[in-house]
Amino acid sequence: MRGLMQDAPLLISSLIDYAAQYHGEREIVSRTIEGPVQRTSYAAMQRRAKQLGNALLSMGIKLGDRVATLAWNGYRHMEIYYGVSCIGAVLHTINPRLFPEQIEYIANHAEDQFIFLDLTFVPLMEQMQDRLPKVRGFVVMTDEAHMPKTSLRNAVCYEKLVNAHSDRLAWPVFDESTASSLCYTSGTTGNPKGVLYSHRSTVLHGFAGCMGDVLGITSSDSILVVVPLFHANAWGIPYSAAMCGAKLVFPGMAMDGKSIFELLRDERVTMTAGVPTVWLMLFQYLDQVKAETGKIPELPHLKRVVIGGSAAPRAMIKRFWDDFGAYVVHAWGMTEMSPLGTTGNLLPKHKDLPIEERLDVQVKQGRAVYGVELRITDDEGKELPRDGKAFGNLQVRGPWITSGYFKGEGGKVLDADNWFTTGDVATLDPDGYMQITDRAKDVIKSGGEWISSIDLENEAVGHPAVAEAAVIGVAHPKWQERPLLLIVRKKGAEASKEEILEFLEPRIAKWWMPDDVVFVDELPHTATGKLLKTKLREQFRDYKLPGA
Ligand code: ADP
Repeated sequence: MRGLMQDAPLLISSLIDYAAQYHGEREIVSRTIEGPVQRTSYAAMQRRAKQLGNALLSMGIKLGDRVATLAWNGYRHMEIYYGVSCIGAVLHTINPRLFPEQIEYIANHAEDQFIFLDLTFVPLMEQMQDRLPKVRGFVVMTDEAHMPKTSLRNAVCYEKLVNAHSDRLAWPVFDESTASSLCYTSGTTGNPKGVLYSHRSTVLHGFAGCMGDVLGITSSDSILVVVPLFHANAWGIPYSAAMCGAKLVFPGMAMDGKSIFELLRDERVTMTAGVPTVWLMLFQYLDQVKAETGKIPELPHLKRVVIGGSAAPRAMIKRFWDDFGAYVVHAWGMTEMSPLGTTGNLLPKHKDLPIEERLDVQVKQGRAVYGVELRITDDEGKELPRDGKAFGNLQVRGPWITSGYFKGEGGKVLDADNWFTTGDVATLDPDGYMQITDRAKDVIKSGGEWISSIDLENEAVGHPAVAEAAVIGVAHPKWQERPLLLIVRKKGAEASKEEILEFLEPRIAKWWMPDDVVFVDELPHTATGKLLKTKLREQFRDYKLPGA
């Protein structure tokens, strides 16, 4: 017997409409590329998204057409999120930190018809436009006063375009499985591959973000969105926030510690989200303030810091707690997963644990979000026990997980039972907490056993002189591979190889001890802020370990 409930499609337009109606005055605050901090509201955003929708329709954009952005986090970018998807077109958020050849590749692969770009990227697109023959025109995301002279073909000023159109538009209604946005994986090996989200997957994932045990977003929150809008939909925050009317704060392109701190303080931010590297920059700024004034400045409103994209080191989780009483929600996911897969919230039995034991729970990447099934398997595909010890290939499935890449790139990605193999190696404990051991390709294979590069890195950054650490496997005649630890020291800090190894000794298994430590000025990162291990492995391919 079928239920007798209405069959309303889950469409992204319902999110901005709801926000405008029930949280119309709630603010959206942006540090602009032009300079000043801009304030708008959900009501104004809905109006402008509709104006933009009308503009796109007048430009001939139809259902399924791709419209790209090359932009930092700001209110115009979010208007484009809604303006494009709500008329049934596909928002393609290009990561500007990719190499130019990759940007060119994905814009051509996606067949983007228009590119909306921040002022920052005008020179880049001027150089590249001849190699993007399918792009019909460029919209520069600024007002007329700041519109530059440009050779971009059919260049239009965003404000002029939006203002030329009416805000009267009834969003079209279509099937909820219609594509809504497109995001390419960073492609550290091979070409980037497109993940194509739907209205349904996006709305369902948006609900998840509002669950107390996931990101716990509510109307009382003021959220500093440090994670870029071009990085897996900023972890779904623009959708979840609209669903409950949370205030949003966008940092523009100013990601330095001081600028981030000022927004956290001045906008009374309760929750923020970003990859570990941005928090390292914040900590450096806080250390500098402490050196000058003798104390860490306060952030009395900050309650939750969502950290994902790479493992959040224990020292980072602890520092947010010690300095601000802010709880780090350790999150794991992938572009292919919209991206939320697990979040590290506590169970009732953990609440009164002493801090060090609580950190043992928080360093894990957390428990599956409702909607995501998780399991670990051996190389033959046999499921492994959830005992917190066995580690294997992490697989996922669910309604916001990809079923294949755009245009069939990469072939079939699911097994016969729809499991998607993440490429991560992990453990699952009896309480359901998942811990990433490593990326399958980064794990160090030493004498038939595996060493987790992530665990070593996390321990190393606990040393007071260490700003950042990376561990890679280097060929070894006897053990096949042994760990090499690369360290960036904090400005002005000193630490010798011996001191670092001594520090690690009580913290790790003996046979995990890095065979050598190399101090470097900086470490290479991917376009989404992860350590670029492929480059490091190349750089240190012929490195001779002592005694090897
Ligand atoms: P992006 O590069 O856009 O972040 P990817 O989808 O390429 O996204 O990255 C997903 C991968 O990032 C995961 O498969 C995992 O290896 C890594 N990752 C994400 N979150 C965490 C985390 N909390 N701890 C460890 N690794 C993580």
